[in-house]
Amino acid sequence: MRKPCIKVPKINGEPTRCTLIELELLDHSAKIASDAQCLYLPLIRVPEAPEFEQIPEGVEISEFEFKVQQKKPTLEDLLGLMPHYEVIGDIALIEIDEMEAEKIADALLKVHPHITTVLGAVTPVTGEYRIREFRLIAGVETTETIHREHGCLYAVDLAKAYFTPRLGTERFRVLSRIKPGDVVVDMFAGVGPYSILIAKKAGPKKVIAIDKNPDAIRLLRRNIDLNSADNVEAIEGDANEEAQRFAGIADHVIMNLPHSAHEFLDAAVGLVRNGGIIHYYGITPEDDLYDSSSGLIRDAAARAGRVVEVVDKRIVRSYAPHQYNVCIEVLVE
Ligand code: SAM
Repeated sequence: MRKPCIKVPKINGEPTRCTLIELELLDHSAKIASDAQCLYLPLIRVPEAPEFEQIPEGVEISEFEFKVQQKKPTLEDLLGLMPHYEVIGDIALIEIDEMEAEKIADALLKVHPHITTVLGAVTPVTGEYRIREFRLIAGVETTETIHREHGCLYAVDLAKAYFTPRLGTERFRVLSRIKPGDVVVDMFAGVGPYSILIAKKAGPKKVIAIDKNPDAIRLLRRNIDLNSADNVEAIEGDANEEAQRFAGIADHVIMNLPHSAHEFLDAAVGLVRNGGIIHYYGITPEDDLYDSSSGLIRDAAARAGRVVEVVDKRIVRSYAPHQYNVCIEVLVE
């Protein structure tokens, strides 16, 4: 298509292009062209005199036969709807019961070149290790990838150890509570997204990261190496038992096992020093978001002859209809 354009020596091409964008004169429907010396920047219209003054010197108004610029289609363009999906490294997860899962997967591969695998979860997150099964819907058959979050790298295997990017904001919130020199115990560390973030960004003295799932600990050790997080100690074992070795050392105890964290409260209280904080996660109904859980924490403290003060409580995310994943933070004396 023949269009008016600015012909500019290549050396001045970038500032001229930026000025045309600011003036809303660059025509994005045509592909910028070039020859050995010059760029040809397609115009929506010829600039008026005051506009022309703002364009870097040494350009000339001309005409050129441009190629049409293909607009990259969006998911909505391809599907007529915006599907629910989440991206972990180069894997996209979609709902398996979503109508036309294959069509959605193909569109994801087309629109996001960095996605190479599309998986659908066949089961919910279940069992002691909080994992689920997946089915390949499109792309390369794998459940392993490397995910980047807050500048840290995480090797994950979605079929073997729990990981969700949905807690990224929550992890950052907990990070903001940790002070340099603190000792942190991550009782249910998984592949390490709390432990490694804290180790890398908060300057703690030590992070003790416990998990019962051998695969989670294998990946956690790999992630310690990937991030050079040498102050993380990875321990494979049951948090209730392992906690006995670290009585009274923690400034912060992270209890991210929302369905059954209450079964580990005595151990958590035993870990925390006077003035330290327990970050307790639970799944609670909307009509009792915090009270019952706070009561359980208070009871555990009382059993150890200690007292707690709730210093923060919040909804982390909605979990199911009328049910929420909440965090309660208590200071233990
Ligand atoms: N904190 C990690 C994260 O944010 O990705 C993992 C959280 S996941 C909800 C809970 C983790 O607790 C799982 O990795 C599971 O293997 C681990 N776990 C379950 N029971 C445990 C126990 N008795 N002792 C230690 N870890 C346990």
